[in-house]
Amino acid sequence: MPKIYLLDVTNRDGVQTAKLGLSKLEKTMVNIYLNEMGVFQSEFGFPTTRHETRYLNANLELAEMGVLEPIRLGGWIRAIVDDVELAFERVPGIKHLNVSISTSEQMIKGKLKKTRKDVLKDMMAAVDAAWAKGAESVGVNAEDASRTDLDFLVEFGLAAKEHGATRLRYCDTLGYDNPFTIYRTNKALAEKVGLPIEQHCHGDLGMAVANSLAGAKGTIDGRQDAYINTTINGIGERAGNADLVTVILAVTKSKDFAKRYQFGSKIRLSKAWKIAKFTEYAFDVPIPINQPGVGANAFAHESGIHADGVLKDPENYELYGFKELGRGDPIKVDTGREIIAGQYSGISGFSHVMGKIKDVSFASKAEANDVLELVRYANVLSHKPLVEDELLFIANYPDIAKQLLTSTPLAW
Ligand SMILES: [Zn+2]
Repeated sequence: MPKIYLLDVTNRDGVQTAKLGLSKLEKTMVNIYLNEMGVFQSEFGFPTTRHETRYLNANLELAEMGVLEPIRLGGWIRAIVDDVELAFERVPGIKHLNVSISTSEQMIKGKLKKTRKDVLKDMMAAVDAAWAKGAESVGVNAEDASRTDLDFLVEFGLAAKEHGATRLRYCDTLGYDNPFTIYRTNKALAEKVGLPIEQHCHGDLGMAVANSLAGAKGTIDGRQDAYINTTINGIGERAGNADLVTVILAVTKSKDFAKRYQFGSKIRLSKAWKIAKFTEYAFDVPIPINQPGVGANAFAHESGIHADGVLKDPENYELYGFKELGRGDPIKVDTGREIIAGQYSGISGFSHVMGKIKDVSFASKAEANDVLELVRYANVLSHKPLVEDELLFIANYPDIAKQLLTSTPLAW
């Protein structure tokens, strides 16, 4: 039976969202948390974008060191040979790529000013180039797939397959699909193309998660593996993408679904609270009070009948328990004196902050000073106090942190 895999795109679709962004250290923490959660692949950024280069190379180094393992780190580029070559020039260790090109008539004519033949040619040449450069997996993205004729999508998918593509990404770029349409198209694509299909869904009509599930079901019914694209807290272009935690809940908890449709890797839902709260802080976008699983009201009961019922037996009014999502521990908030490690901190305050974190000790004063200097720079870039895990990361991997924090424009 084919399986469902999670391919998170927070570090690509999430960070390209208007008005939002993450520092390179925050992006790295996202990759670390996704790995802890058991996510199959993180689309970790843009290998042709100059300011991403050091971050991408540093994260590949973390993968080599076993810190980011077994998660796969995949880059996103346009399906253009020049972009493939530039990606490997700037990020030589990159192993996984998704190459993207528009397939709808609207975008081929209205945006690319090309023909279908040009699109096929560009895509095939890009896939060939990626293999020639040493890629280990190459996904092919059909942008605006939901507004593309099925016949052309099949032709596009078969051409990609002929050139060895690993997967076909079905992009519902405008959030135009509904569960019934995406089920049909994804099933047909899986059957006719014979490649695993990725569901890339947006929430413009409020159906990103439902569409992801329906698309995955269609793909598996068509006898191929499904790769659902998610973002943490659903952050993504416009109305956002399919929320990671909600997708996990929907796959594992919705009526009858998990009996037939299961994840192909072990997913640790217990990390949900941590990853959602970190991302809320990093993007500075509050989690809505009614967000599934991680919202403030997800396990709150007030009305008499509900409160009475849940106290007698939580299953009366809760589909799943809060502990499953790793929430329930009290949060300690200092209400008196606070010492914070920031861009103008000195060694005394910094030592006080680090002293409160267990598992940290510095071999010498010089080492502590070096780490403090990195913490200052991290704060310059993020404009907010670093969380404990970030401080620990910098203390444990100062050389990697240095690369992440080096944002000087490279020589042209
Ligand atoms: Zn998208």
